Amino acid sequence: MRKKLVVGNWKMNMTRAEALACVEGLIPLVEHATINNPHVEVGICPPYLAIDAVSHMLRGTKVAVGAQDVFWKESGAFTGRVSPQMIQEAGCTMCIVGHSETRGRFGKLEVDASTLGYFAETDETVNLKILCLIYHSITPILCVGETLAEREAGRTDSVIAAQLKGALKGIDGSEYTSGVVAYEPVWAIGTGQTCDTAEAERVCGMIRSVLAEVFDEDTAQEIRIQYGGSVKASNARDLFSQPNIDGGLVGGASLNPNEFGEIVRAAS
Ligand code: PEP
Repeated sequence: MRKKLVVGNWKMNMTRAEALACVEGLIPLVEHATINNPHVEVGICPPYLAIDAVSHMLRGTKVAVGAQDVFWKESGAFTGRVSPQMIQEAGCTMCIVGHSETRGRFGKLEVDASTLGYFAETDETVNLKILCLIYHSITPILCVGETLAEREAGRTDSVIAAQLKGALKGIDGSEYTSGVVAYEPVWAIGTGQTCDTAEAERVCGMIRSVLAEVFDEDTAQEIRIQYGGSVKASNARDLFSQPNIDGGLVGGASLNPNEFGEIVRAAS
């Protein structure tokens, strides 16, 4: 049986002091929400500079810590980058890769076109990051999803299949059984517009079929597939009760401990 996994992606929010206050509020809520259910796992992905302090505070609790991105080299002349060992040393056991924002695919365009090149992650670099994370036994959370234009052009399934095949190239199924895929329709991220539950379940089922093609059926049945995109306490239970949706990747709502605690409760 796959355990549910609820992960908060704080993005570029929270100073260290704010992060610690949020986590202090969150710990008893998560303990309470999961008390009768050992089949739910919870994680928080703070900004890099808060990871150390947050993971220190979360030591001995049920909440894991993750990073929002990583570089695929061990060390060297890569100004501004952060290696897998660095995030691991700071306490991370999981890491988001291929988020639409790092791919430069925004739901509501907030980034000037002239600076969009700064957000230039590709399936190839996502693949390199996953290989490196696996080597270091850090769980990858691979984000995939279509833009509104791609959905309207009927390309949802083909775009996602290509992202999965590109990102998982050269990886053996036995190395990805504890890995995670997050279905995040770009148009639903940070927009308040959640994907219809039946459609989210259909796409997550399609993702599982592609995983069976890339790996094999048994591996595909083991991999957790999250839904992400304006998850809130009010829609989480419905989404998480679907057979192919194994929890959520939560952005905005994870910044509020009470709301996030309720989302964790919905997974329990
Ligand atoms: C995300 O950024 O991964 C996300 C799902 O954001 P939000 O919940 O704010 O839509």
